[in-house]
Amino acid sequence: MKTVIYCEHHNGKIKKSSLELLSNAATWGTEVHALALGAPGTLDGLAAELNEYGPHAIHFAEHAGLAHYSSDGFAKVVADAAKSLGAEILLASVSTQTKDFLPRVAVKLDTGMASDCTALTVAGSNVQATRPMYSGKCFASVDFSKAKPVMATIRPNALGMKAKKAGSATATKLATDPGTIRAGVKEVVAKAGAQNKVDLTEAERIVSGGRSLKSSENFKILEDLATTISATVGASRAAVDAGFRPHSDQVGQTGKVVSPSLYMAFGISGAIQHLAGMRSSKLIVAVNTDQNAPIFQKADYGVVADLFEAAPKINEEFKKLLQH
Ligand SMILES: Cc1cc2nc3c(=O)[nH]c(=O)nc-3n(C[C@H](O)[C@H](O)[C@H](O)COP(=O)(O)OP(=O)(O)OC[C@H]3O[C@@H](n4cnc5c(N)ncnc54)[C@H](O)[C@@H]3O)c2cc1C
Repeated sequence: MKTVIYCEHHNGKIKKSSLELLSNAATWGTEVHALALGAPGTLDGLAAELNEYGPHAIHFAEHAGLAHYSSDGFAKVVADAAKSLGAEILLASVSTQTKDFLPRVAVKLDTGMASDCTALTVAGSNVQATRPMYSGKCFASVDFSKAKPVMATIRPNALGMKAKKAGSATATKLATDPGTIRAGVKEVVAKAGAQNKVDLTEAERIVSGGRSLKSSENFKILEDLATTISATVGASRAAVDAGFRPHSDQVGQTGKVVSPSLYMAFGISGAIQHLAGMRSSKLIVAVNTDQNAPIFQKADYGVVADLFEAAPKINEEFKKLLQH
């Protein structure tokens, strides 16, 4: 079986979730091909990082039209690459980009696609995936007996990073034509301070706050805690709607879906739409003054307390622990 993994990159580095997928693929016994897209001369530096996860082959699709993301261009190039490489399995991690263009690739390849999977097993030619339905209230088991190639996107952190496996594949350049790009990005203007922030969807640890934070300034107590434990700050929709945080920080059904190892919810009630975005977190800690708040039904650890007292105390305790 030939598995092609679309590897997304940002600022000259492969996204952690793409490496997580590669590290898992290395354990399946299939022939693993890593595929990255970009402008000519911008991809060479990625080969060393990809080779740490042992792909059998690395392919760079380079074209001036791929300098910035476009659904048309990326869909055409990835579909062409999948055909020319003879992909039997085509995978990518879930991201804003892949949510946008991979369904188009599935149409071009005349196959189906299982999106936002939380589990995937590959045994010989048998591929099985699990994907949440109805905002995570139940799970569908997907088999791909009729869909060729198999196509799926996997939620970051869902499979877990496996051990590195050194490889020595030489990157080959694919003949690439993105075709006509009807709507494309001309320039990406980076937001100040955003460069070093781990994206919510990739974060190992998240500290989230709700409406009860009362102001954007008060989020400083959660930012301090997040700094101590190297976490990313998230928010409920109520906090975003109130203007305390940008929409890019929103966790939930109409925000981002996250699966960190640790999710700490401060003053978040646990509405179904919020749970839809974080219920697959490995460990959930909730702090809320209301002992009947629905979040406690999902939490592994619950603290009935005022967040303005609890958050600084938890931060101090983490600091003490980390000093040892
Ligand atoms: C179509 C649709 C889509 C939606 N999408 C999303 C989404 O993507 N994400 C999302 O989050 N929501 C979403 N919502 C909104 C959702 O239904 C809730 O309204 C929202 O999640 C509530 O946010 P909250 O928990 O911060 O606020 P509240 O519901 O007001 O809860 C505040 C909580 O803080 C507690 N509290 C108050 N003071 C303190 C204190 N000092 N210390 C500790 N605890 C305190 C309270 O007991 C309460 O439980 C959506 C709604 C709809 C209809």
